[in-house]
Amino acid sequence: MSAQIIDGKAFAASLRTRIAEHVTRLKADHGLTPGLAVVIVGEDPASQVYVRNKGKQTREAGMHSVEHALPAETSESDLLALIDQLNSDPAIHGILVQLPLPDHLNEDLVINAIDPAKDVDGFHISNVGLLGTGQKSMVPCTPLGCVMLLKDHYGSLEGLNAVVVGRSNIVGKPMAQLLLGQSCTVTIAHSRTKDLPKLLGEADIVVAAVGRPEMIPGDWIKPGATIIDVGINRIPKEDGKTRLVGDVDFASAQSRAGAITPVPGGVGPMTIACLLANTVTACCRTHGLAEPDGLTA
Ligand code: NDP
Repeated sequence: MSAQIIDGKAFAASLRTRIAEHVTRLKADHGLTPGLAVVIVGEDPASQVYVRNKGKQTREAGMHSVEHALPAETSESDLLALIDQLNSDPAIHGILVQLPLPDHLNEDLVINAIDPAKDVDGFHISNVGLLGTGQKSMVPCTPLGCVMLLKDHYGSLEGLNAVVVGRSNIVGKPMAQLLLGQSCTVTIAHSRTKDLPKLLGEADIVVAAVGRPEMIPGDWIKPGATIIDVGINRIPKEDGKTRLVGDVDFASAQSRAGAITPVPGGVGPMTIACLLANTVTACCRTHGLAEPDGLTA
């Protein structure tokens, strides 16, 4: 058996097309252009690439895109003042502060200074609480993308056994909350979990968000399970170059799973598409408009 490949790249492209259609309607019917501000502090090359991609895709969807690139030595008070300014800017519906921040800046303080209605990353403590209590919230982009892929694959996730490997605030925990919201039976595994192979052997759905290259071999997986691999790990190749792999050993998992996301081309492309979706959702909520279908979990 060879698993079905869940094509996140194609799904993200179709999601961006739907987003662009919503944006066109918001402009035509309400004179509104959803706006996203991305704030980056410092010169981390990987972060700069992400921020450039976010800006490009925002503009391609017809949205207003603003980028604030601040020097690494920016003070906390200057950063908070910028966030304040963006909070009160009516042209901005979504604010994203690129993480990680330099060490002298308190990430929790900065994230919690964002207006929760504009917190398109879903990291503000209010949104975390709303998600945890099953209320309408801004949902973190990567887990949102994973749930969209799963719902597209299954239709209903009700009653399925899901194991989320990883308990970070940005992926593992919100992922588990979203799956619970879809009426899965959810287990969260982490570095102190005693018998991960046993847990995975009973999982209909595995979401791997660990950051350890190919740590989950195919023979830990229940035959026919659906594998969502969030991990992005760069490993050396024999020719001295590098390549990206996930947290799951794709070659062995592919012959055992029912469906699997590749790395690259699986979850990765969904994250920015969901950021755009969240910005449109935030714009609609701010203006009391009906939320477009298919952009939330
Ligand atoms: P973190 O480092 O914050 O969390 C990793 C989690 O994995 C922790 O909860 C840790 O457990 C757990 N873990 C570590 N070792 C093991 C182990 N041997 N067995 C079981 N669990 C283990 O990572 P993130 O959540 O931020 O990211 C995870 C991966 O997802 C990374 O590869 C990252 O690059 C990728 N990522 C991809 C995105 C995308 O757009 N596709 C977006 C965000 C992340 P403990 O808590 O006990 O330490």
